[in-house]
Amino acid sequence: MDYKEIFWMACDSVEQLRAEYGPFHTRAEAEAEAHKLGFSYLLRYEHLLDKNEEIQEVRCIFIELPGAKTELLSVSLHTRCATCGESASHDKPWQAEVWADIHEFEHSRHKVRLFEHARGKGLKEIGDWRG
Ligand SMILES: [Zn+2]
Repeated sequence: MDYKEIFWMACDSVEQLRAEYGPFHTRAEAEAEAHKLGFSYLLRYEHLLDKNEEIQEVRCIFIELPGAKTELLSVSLHTRCATCGESASHDKPWQAEVWADIHEFEHSRHKVRLFEHARGKGLKEIGDWRG
């Protein structure tokens, strides 16, 4: 009967040229190592072996870890004018700043507020963001 051999690697990306570390026999070990190294992915290898322990097939599956890196990427910025309610969302802090500058230039005495939106955490206002 065929059987499966499974092992885990910690890796830093899903690209062809990635750094891999391992192998580990359990997912928990690989995850601990990934955290230590700041890697965001695990790679699960499955070797399907025949009765002579010859590898028949290799499968690998990437698993993204809910780490600090991915959290950073999922943060988006939202500006909202406290005076008229006009709002916009931005990927980069400088884009939010430009939007606020233009808005406050075009509408005198309007005050733009900045919010950070992190996945799973909701909105958080960033006070004094423009010095
Ligand atoms: Zn406004």
